Amino acid sequence: MKLCIVCQEVLGKYAQKYCSKKCCRRASNIQMREWKADWARKNRVVSNASQEMYRQKNLSYHASKEAIYRTQKSISSLNQFYKDEILKIYEEARSSGLSVDHIVPLRGKLVCGLHVPWNLQIMPLLDNIKKGNKYVD
Ligand SMILES: [Zn+2]
Repeated sequence: MKLCIVCQEVLGKYAQKYCSKKCCRRASNIQMREWKADWARKNRVVSNASQEMYRQKNLSYHASKEAIYRTQKSISSLNQFYKDEILKIYEEARSSGLSVDHIVPLRGKLVCGLHVPWNLQIMPLLDNIKKGNKYVD
């Protein structure tokens, strides 16, 4: 009995290495990624120069990516700071069969709130679903 070398599922009668086209594609993607990483290791100078050229050509794109990364990083550290308080609110909601809502939604159309204790409120799940992504004053 042969197994697919990607997902370890049992192969069909006529399959050689992969159980499906999806696994075959995944294997070739992995091989390509390894080949590229290997090439970059062997040609470090050329690789770094070409990456830098690409970055210079797309500076605004990279600036926006970096800004998103920085924002997410600061938000997640804020989450860490209030981790215990937030956990208490979720435990309280769960024990009373209710759900936790973000008063100012995390990804609203007009406003974006934070995942911090003062932006959380406990409410019935149905009301939470009805509220959705809206900010109700
Ligand atoms: Zn497979």
